[in-house]
Amino acid sequence: MYKKHIKALENKVWLSSPTMYEDSMQYAMEAYNTNWMSTVGENINVLEKRVAELVGCKEAVALASGTSSIHLMTKLAGIKRGDKVFCTTLTFSATVNPLCYEGAEPIFIDSEYDTWNMDPKALEKAFELYPDTKYVLLVHLYGTPAKLDEILEICEKYGATLIEDAAESFGATYNGKQTGSFGTHNAISFNGNKIITGTSGGMLLTDSIKAAEKARKWSTQSRENAPWYQHEEVGYNYRMSNVIAGIARNQLDRLTTHIEEKKNIYYRYKEGLEGLPIQMNPFEEDKSNPNYWLSCLIIDKNYMARQVRSDKEYLYKQENGKSSPHEILDAIKSINAEGRPIWKPMHKQPIFMNYDFINRYGHAKAMTNAYISGGFIDERDNLPEDISMDIFSRGLCLPSDNKMTEEDQDKIIEVIRACFE
Ligand SMILES: *Cc1c(COP(=O)(O)O)cnc(C)c1O
Repeated sequence: MYKKHIKALENKVWLSSPTMYEDSMQYAMEAYNTNWMSTVGENINVLEKRVAELVGCKEAVALASGTSSIHLMTKLAGIKRGDKVFCTTLTFSATVNPLCYEGAEPIFIDSEYDTWNMDPKALEKAFELYPDTKYVLLVHLYGTPAKLDEILEICEKYGATLIEDAAESFGATYNGKQTGSFGTHNAISFNGNKIITGTSGGMLLTDSIKAAEKARKWSTQSRENAPWYQHEEVGYNYRMSNVIAGIARNQLDRLTTHIEEKKNIYYRYKEGLEGLPIQMNPFEEDKSNPNYWLSCLIIDKNYMARQVRSDKEYLYKQENGKSSPHEILDAIKSINAEGRPIWKPMHKQPIFMNYDFINRYGHAKAMTNAYISGGFIDERDNLPEDISMDIFSRGLCLPSDNKMTEEDQDKIIEVIRACFE
């Protein structure tokens, strides 16, 4: 229970804000000075080449956002109206919205506790229930790679295409390989709060030169090779601006530094919070190098103070020796720092609620009402029937800005410790 009054930080610590440098505008200014203020130019060409090299794929296509990259990758994968797509449920809505643009049907797959990502057991169940499904849309939550070995094996077994939403995990590796290089087509994001940024922007990654050419054509209104504006396909205005590409190009040199800084933040939290009944967001230490984009924690079940959430509000009780995500978030906020709840699972969102949700046993038995943890416990393994909801209920994202000082972080740690007094 938080009852201390700890003095607020002088400068606000954000969850994850853009990190700019003196030379951040160098290539963008070059575009300005040479009048390449459009969706063509050297910055785009260089960015595409360098990101492809870094990720280890043949082609990278610079687009307006991560979301538009996901949209074009779903189209390139061949996803059409009525197609079922197995999709990570614990994610940002930008993963799923492009499926809706195309009229496809997402089927949401539960999480596991080792990485908080798509549970291979639940994916296997989903294929048993819907064996004709041809697509898996996989997310690497908060920069932590999913269980790719298992998931790739299942995709192979059922002849399904994997596509990766690596928007949050740019620079993270699994078995020494970059996320965003495992799927047939993949997407990353340069949104303002990601590990590096162009202010906005995203990229589609693929080994298919033909697919990359298609994406470039679609993203510039699908012009045919003709003297006039000739159109044979639906087009989009999705190409990245050369100014944004200039900012992203400069930021690319900072990727390693940002990952190093975020990693330090993660381990300082881990050390500072030692002894509390919490766990940091976990990853497979023998296989993964996350990019540590966000540091998160989850409260042990037995140390959860009561907390309820309606669709738009929350309430919690203060209890001795226990705490809850909202108590911690409020306490952090009171000292001028920003945390955030875990993504609310997609199958619990009013807009997506009619789609199917599959856990490790198949269809979840019942809907949950009030949830302190993930609702009903499945007596077969004594785990919540809905693990993604359990993580949402007990977890939170900590202030993870790479510009926060050690003193700032010590204060935040002190506040979190005080929540459990
Ligand atoms: C940020 C994000 C996106 C969308 O990227 P934008 O560049 O903001 O469009 C997609 N998926 C996930 C998981 C994200 O975190």
